[in-house]
Amino acid sequence: MISQKINENSIRKAKTLIDNANAITVICHTSPDGDAVGSSLAAMRVLSAIGKDVHVVVPDAFLFYLRALPGASEIVDSVKYPEFADKLIADTDLLLCLDFNEPSRVGRLSEALKSSKAPKILIDHHLNPSIDADVIISHPEMSSTCYLLFRFLCRLELFNLIDRQAAECILAGMMTDTGNFSYSCDDPELYIVEAELVRKGVDKAALYRMLFNTNSANCMRLNSYAILHKMELFTDAHLSLITLRREELNRFHYTKGDTEGLVNRPLAIPGIDISLFMRQESDCIRVSLRSVGDIPVNIIASELFGGGGHLNAAGGEYFGTLDEAAEHLKSHLDDIRHRFIDQKKK
Ligand code: 5GP
Ligand code: MN
Repeated sequence: MISQKINENSIRKAKTLIDNANAITVICHTSPDGDAVGSSLAAMRVLSAIGKDVHVVVPDAFLFYLRALPGASEIVDSVKYPEFADKLIADTDLLLCLDFNEPSRVGRLSEALKSSKAPKILIDHHLNPSIDADVIISHPEMSSTCYLLFRFLCRLELFNLIDRQAAECILAGMMTDTGNFSYSCDDPELYIVEAELVRKGVDKAALYRMLFNTNSANCMRLNSYAILHKMELFTDAHLSLITLRREELNRFHYTKGDTEGLVNRPLAIPGIDISLFMRQESDCIRVSLRSVGDIPVNIIASELFGGGGHLNAAGGEYFGTLDEAAEHLKSHLDDIRHRFIDQKKK
């Protein structure tokens, strides 16, 4: 019904590893989003249904609104339970690595990941995976890990074990990483998979509300403040920058996830093709980047902020003050304009 994308050899090797495992530990990237949590929970649910003893370990807290996803209460947060998390990774028969491409993306779990003797399967959609895994199923052309995981489970002939709950988790990731099918959404087969998941009983309207339309009053005020007072437009470079300092975040009782989606907003302005959001955290400046069209923000993230990501959505960090981070960007505006805006016009 949908075309085969994952090569047969990887499927065969992954199947053998799963067949031979009893305990399976699933891990994903830091600040887990809907795709990371969704894919991990779906994998846990389906692999549990074939009799495996599955645990999901996350490097740190996931976005609060994802708590409503089926199985989320069973997730082991390695910040809260570091010893248990490390033990699950050290003692497991198989590590399933979902939605990340580099050891550094699992934060404090990177040591446990590197030292684990268990066989590893990586299923991911980020560019250039550098995980030392026995099976690497890497498809950067796919919009989400959940979409790739659905294909993987179907190839293992587990489609019938994807129940409503697992389907909800998979669709959550597909919706998260495409902005509810508004970008990276040109693959027609996405909608075949979506239809199958809805057929499993997912209430898509409720899922949409959970993922995209759940905000506290403080969160709404913070985002409005950021756009009203903190959005700078650099029209020559077709770029917008929003910065938020610790005091500003505190004023609106910021909690993790409150600025999710803020970075996308300036892209609504005609002529703004690149958007950056810088947030002051306790140890660094966290930078989020978004673009429209073929402007590669993953290159800007990598060159200026030691990060990476996808063509249109990337992130990185800056070690210094928020003002220095903003100045660092501003000193590269001409270069950005020259390479990514002017070149395109030619
Ligand atoms: P966000 O802005 O939502 O934090 O991140 C957007 C995307 O950029 C993520 O899905 C991830 O692929 C990528 N990304 C974010 N932060 C980093 C980072 O520090 N390093 C790398 N390599 N990729 C990142
Ligand atoms: Mn993803």
